[in-house]
Amino acid sequence: MRTLSLSVLAVWCLSCGSNSAMDAGATPRQPTPQELFKASSAVKSVTVEIDYAPNAAPYTGSAGTFGDTFGLFVTNAQRLFMSSNKTLTLPTQLSEMEALTQTPGAQVTTQQILAFAALHRGTPSTTAAASFYVLFLDSYFQDDSGVRMDVLGVSIGNTGVIALFKPVIKSTRSTLFPNLERFVEQTTLVHEFGHAVGLVNNGAPTTTAHQDTAHGAHCTNDACVMYWQNEGAAAAVDFARRYVTSGTTVIFAADCLADIDALK
Ligand SMILES: [Zn+2]
Ligand SMILES: [Zn+2]
Repeated sequence: MRTLSLSVLAVWCLSCGSNSAMDAGATPRQPTPQELFKASSAVKSVTVEIDYAPNAAPYTGSAGTFGDTFGLFVTNAQRLFMSSNKTLTLPTQLSEMEALTQTPGAQVTTQQILAFAALHRGTPSTTAAASFYVLFLDSYFQDDSGVRMDVLGVSIGNTGVIALFKPVIKSTRSTLFPNLERFVEQTTLVHEFGHAVGLVNNGAPTTTAHQDTAHGAHCTNDACVMYWQNEGAAAAVDFARRYVTSGTTVIFAADCLADIDALK
């Protein structure tokens, strides 16, 4: 669906494909994808800050033969920033993330997420130091169509704010596939981070015809983490089972990587 209004921000989510809109307000300015990836740009460091609400802690630690749970996000973030001449700082353990004592509510709108982020985000982007802010919430996403029980995560416009919805992630747990909910959480984080840094045509121009324009800032390649049909929780589960083989799997396909690499 598409909401037409005085839109500045688009919300991309791994499991809704909605394009909601709202006013950017006083949100700190994020670097453009060009500023983010150009090796010679003013941006010298890129940091991801992760906070989590009660009952919504990210999965961390060992995922058995898969390796460290956060390995998937680290591998994919490092691949995006490869040869970009940035110092990348990514938390991987709970001790490097902040446990919040507040929750923004059981259902949250884009505006409520941004208001909550404004209270808790520690390190907004500066000219030299880019940052992204990830919130793990014990909440469901709510948009114009109501409460979205299947939405795993959202990346909010050009704010650098990402929210992941833990009840939906937890719902993907499977007795047949140990740790599946961990992989789904990681693929959701990678997908939303992909939007936040400019994919697909979300600030990073496409270098080949692979934008699925019918579904917004998504990729036409079903083997790519930016594929739109990773949208329902069920499809994200299917993606994780088919394409995530280890914590060091790059799950952006070639076209998306080429868009990012073209900026360097
Ligand atoms: Zn998406
Ligand atoms: Zn792609």
